[in-house]
Amino acid sequence: MGLWSFKDEVVLVTGSTRGIGLGVAHAFAQEGAMVLIVGTNESMARQVAADFKSKGRLADGFGCDVTDFHQVQETVNKILDIHKRIDILVNNAGITRDNLLLRLDENDWDQVIKVNLKGTFNVTKAVGRAMIRAKKGRIINIASVIGLTGNIGQANYAASKAGIIAFSKSAAKEFAHRNITVNCVAPGYIRTDMTAKISEAVQQKVLERIPLSRFGEVHDVAGLCMFLASPAADYITGQTIVVDGGLTI
Ligand code: NDP
Repeated sequence: MGLWSFKDEVVLVTGSTRGIGLGVAHAFAQEGAMVLIVGTNESMARQVAADFKSKGRLADGFGCDVTDFHQVQETVNKILDIHKRIDILVNNAGITRDNLLLRLDENDWDQVIKVNLKGTFNVTKAVGRAMIRAKKGRIINIASVIGLTGNIGQANYAASKAGIIAFSKSAAKEFAHRNITVNCVAPGYIRTDMTAKISEAVQQKVLERIPLSRFGEVHDVAGLCMFLASPAADYITGQTIVVDGGLTI
C-alpha cells in the first residue's frame, strides 16, 4: 500500500501504452484507481488495459490521436458514457523530432507542436468541461526541463514544452474557482523508448551532469504525479515541479 489511495478515482493518462504514461497508469492502478489507457494504436491500448485487468487492476483502453480535436471530443464523451467521470487527467502523450534549427523542417516543427501542445489543449478542453461540471479535478501536464532551459537540436520540443507550462498557468487561473488544480511535471532524462534513441556518447555526457548519478525511471515521475493528484497537493496549482536528479541545478 502506497502513501495515497486512489480507490474509486477515474484517471485518464494520454500516451499510456508505453514509457512514462504506462508507468503513471500502473502507479495509479496499483492504488485502486480505474485507469484509462490512451494511445494512437487502439489495439495496443486495449492490450495494455487487458494486461492490467489480468493482474486484478481496473483499466480500460481507448485508441485516440490527441492531435485530432473531434476524435478527442468523441473519445472523452465515450469515456464519460461508460465511466461517468474523469477525476484526474495526466496529459502525457508527446513526441520528439530533433534537429538543429537550420535543419529543422516545417513538418518536424508542426508535428511536435501539434502532438505536445495542441494535444494538451484538445484533451484539457474536453475533460475540463466535465471537471467543471463536477466541481472537482486534478490536471497534470507532462512538460520537460527542456521547456525551462532550451536545448540544442530541440527548438520545436522546447517551444512545445514551454507552451505547456504557460498554458497550464492560464488553465490553473481559469479552473481554480471550480476546485480544479492544473500543474506541470518537468522530467529530466527518464529511461524510455524516447531517450533510447539518444546515442551512447550523448547519454554518457548527460549522466556526468546528473548530481544523483543515474537516469530517472518512470516510477520517479509517477510518484510526483501521484503527489500532485493527492489531497497533499490540494493547495498547489499553476506550478511546474522538476524531477531530474538535479540535472538543472
Ligand atoms: P514514449 O515515446 O516512450 O511514449 C510516448 C507515448 O505517447 C506512447 O504511448 C505513444 O503511444 C503516445 N503518443 C504519441 N503520439 C500520440 C498521439 N498523437 N496521440 C496519442 N498518444 C500519442 O515517450 P516517453 O514516455 O519518454 O515520454 C512521455 C512524455 O514525457 C512526453 O510528453 C515527453 O515529452 C515527456 N518527457 C519525457 C522525458 C524522457 O526523458 N523520456 C523527459 C521529459 C519529458 P502510440 O505509440 O500508441 O501513439
